[in-house]
Amino acid sequence: MATYSVIIPVYNEALVIRETYRRLKTVMEQTDEPYELLFINDGSTDETLEILRELAVKDDTVKYIDFSRNFGHQIAITAGMDYASGQAIIVIDADLQDPPELILEMIERWKEGYEVVYARRVKRKGETVFKRWTAYVFYRLLRAATEIDIPVDTGDFRLIDRKVCDQLRYMRERSRFVRGLVSWVGFRQTAVEYEREPRFAGETKYPLKKMIRFSLDGITSFSYKPLKLASWLGFLMSAASVVGMFVVLYLKWFAHSTVAGWASLSMVMLLGNGVTLLMLGAIGEYIGRIYDEVKERPLYIINETWGVGMRHERKPSYLP
Ligand code: UDP
Ligand code: MG
Repeated sequence: MATYSVIIPVYNEALVIRETYRRLKTVMEQTDEPYELLFINDGSTDETLEILRELAVKDDTVKYIDFSRNFGHQIAITAGMDYASGQAIIVIDADLQDPPELILEMIERWKEGYEVVYARRVKRKGETVFKRWTAYVFYRLLRAATEIDIPVDTGDFRLIDRKVCDQLRYMRERSRFVRGLVSWVGFRQTAVEYEREPRFAGETKYPLKKMIRFSLDGITSFSYKPLKLASWLGFLMSAASVVGMFVVLYLKWFAHSTVAGWASLSMVMLLGNGVTLLMLGAIGEYIGRIYDEVKERPLYIINETWGVGMRHERKPSYLP
């Protein structure tokens, strides 16, 4: 049984994985306690799996889980938590944007008694202005939309105690936003700060499409505000319509000028349709997620594993 489990989700990271392994190894050796490096191969199409096999044969602290296809970063982290055996579980990106050396500082905090130690980015290097800006807006928006306290500018790079991990494993929701779930669980939480490095090699595995989906998952899993906004807008539009109605009647009966008004009419129609469709879309985002949940498919499918034990299956609490 390891004291520390390091979970590293990898998706087409053949260019960086050896270096990540080397840096993590150096750091974890300094702890003088047993540890495991648990890689989750999220359906990579490059040589990632071959490299993992090679490392695992040489070094028995290296373990891996290989998915049958790409299930996404958040699901990969979840699988890592399902199989991690450590007392403290550390989640880190494979691309060395999160400096492994910070783990030692996290461990210190954990030993002081904190159950969650997250890493807050005080600076982001080597990322596009667009990414920095969208990330900035997203974290503030999320904060405004949700009732629980999700810290701004923190990613999934963090250490969690076994207690927290066990609680997270009960939560099998599909639109996963792991950092939100960790905040939701509670316990004593603290932050360490760091400067986010540029990617060691390769390119981001979070294209815009995945980023949008990820942000929507975050907001819809923790907030009904978009739905409330829909009702408020509906209310406002109805109130405006009543006023508009009186204006139209006045024009018809007293000003006798009903022929003009083509422009205002189209504007009202376009705006009305736009808002209606937008709000239908918001409702759709929720319904789609409900549909995903009720199907109760497994969160991920494993192709092969190395070195990990049986996952002690837990029934959801609502089952007999
Ligand atoms: N990742 C993954 N599955 C995916 C996308 C990303 O496991 O579908 C992993 C990726 O290999 C990396 C981490 O998640 O270890 C973060 O991805 P990336 O560095 O590309 O995101 P960014 O830092 O650009 O937001
Ligand atoms: Mg990265």
